[in-house]
Amino acid sequence: MKKLSGIVLFIVFLMFSTLDTAKVASGDPPKRGDNTMVKNIHWLGHDTFRITGEKVIYTDPFKIKKKDTADIILITHEHYDHCSPEDVKKIQGPDTVIVTVADCAKKLSGKIKIVKPGDKINAEGIEIEAVPSYNTNKQFHTKERGWAGYIFTVQGQRIYIAGDTDYIPEMKSFKADIALLPVSGTYVMTADEAVKAALDIKPKIAIPMHYGAIVGSKDDAKRFAEELKGKITVEILQEE
Ligand code: ZN
Ligand code: ZN
Repeated sequence: MKKLSGIVLFIVFLMFSTLDTAKVASGDPPKRGDNTMVKNIHWLGHDTFRITGEKVIYTDPFKIKKKDTADIILITHEHYDHCSPEDVKKIQGPDTVIVTVADCAKKLSGKIKIVKPGDKINAEGIEIEAVPSYNTNKQFHTKERGWAGYIFTVQGQRIYIAGDTDYIPEMKSFKADIALLPVSGTYVMTADEAVKAALDIKPKIAIPMHYGAIVGSKDDAKRFAEELKGKITVEILQEE
């Protein structure tokens, strides 16, 4: 009898645990781990992301702690905290393709594809568009420099890395599922300006960046998330 009631209890337990799983799967809003694409995006600080899924893609490698081999490295412009030859070396193999603008390319060697805003290329099977990235209310990144942000597609998701940009009119025409946006101000958009950018681009998920290393703090990221509450999902990633 004792054994039987034990079995009954076990069955009841199983019923409840399956019910619980079903509820999570159908009704609850998506949580971070539920979006496989966000799970593939690792923030290594500043504008450095390691994005997996199809290829190993790095953006603006800076202060790289772990040696790795990238399939593709995207670099937005030649400032030292974005185009860093010593950090590129830590993740560059003989087949690594670097996609960058002309003035950064001069500092690097290997397989390099030079782009300018407006270019669309395919590198290692990944579609990559270079898009404008510049300041409008300061002079650190003028439009004439021809520096770039990138929109690239991984597993059908369009990921936009903005580079050091202000809120610019071209953003209205950018189509991205995931937007990596600077929020620190000083050299780039402030959190408030980044909110306007996110509302124009309308990604499914926005991820703040360009804080915690040179300028800006997590408070900027939090303000960005707070102001977009109920409008766009913001993921503040833990630095890895
Ligand atoms: Zn810069
Ligand atoms: Zn920067």
